[in-house]
Amino acid sequence: MIEASAGSSPEGRAARGSSVATSARLPASAVAICPRCETEALYPLAKGPAAPRCPECGFEWREGAVDIDPERPLDRCVFCGRDELYVQKDFNRQLGLGIVLTSFLIVFLVMLLHDHRTGIYLLFVLAAVDFVAYALLRNVAVCYLCQSVYRGLPTNPEHRGFDLGLEEKHKRLRIDWTSQIAERK
Ligand SMILES: [Zn+2]
Ligand SMILES: [Zn+2]
Repeated sequence: MIEASAGSSPEGRAARGSSVATSARLPASAVAICPRCETEALYPLAKGPAAPRCPECGFEWREGAVDIDPERPLDRCVFCGRDELYVQKDFNRQLGLGIVLTSFLIVFLVMLLHDHRTGIYLLFVLAAVDFVAYALLRNVAVCYLCQSVYRGLPTNPEHRGFDLGLEEKHKRLRIDWTSQIAERK
């Protein structure tokens, strides 16, 4: 069984639990939201069979129950058991937007108070720094159906970036899935 710990309040699924990360490898873990009580919890992923259980209401994700090996890429979601996941950078969008806006403000002030040429050079330097920082960010895998976020596992080469078409398909599946779970004892 996976011992979970309840997380902080969810503030939007895209930014959930993400951070501007360093390149060191994290221990394998997943953040999932319980489909029954909506508690967000962190689940450490150790080698062996997974049987995640909500720390709040005790809900068991029976559909997942796959064997985990943190040294190997994930091919199935540990929670809902589906194999459709996408890869994205482990990035907090609000923080990223704040950095971009601050950069523009600094460039604007330099242009205003100093001179234009320095401002333009600074813009290139900041763009290069942002590019490198983005490239260094770790990948996370996200399940289309249950939206669990996986960290610290090798990236599965079969997982692509976010696809709006697949998300639309899963939106409907997610409604059915959640209502099935609500009826389950
Ligand atoms: Zn729960
Ligand atoms: Zn899932």
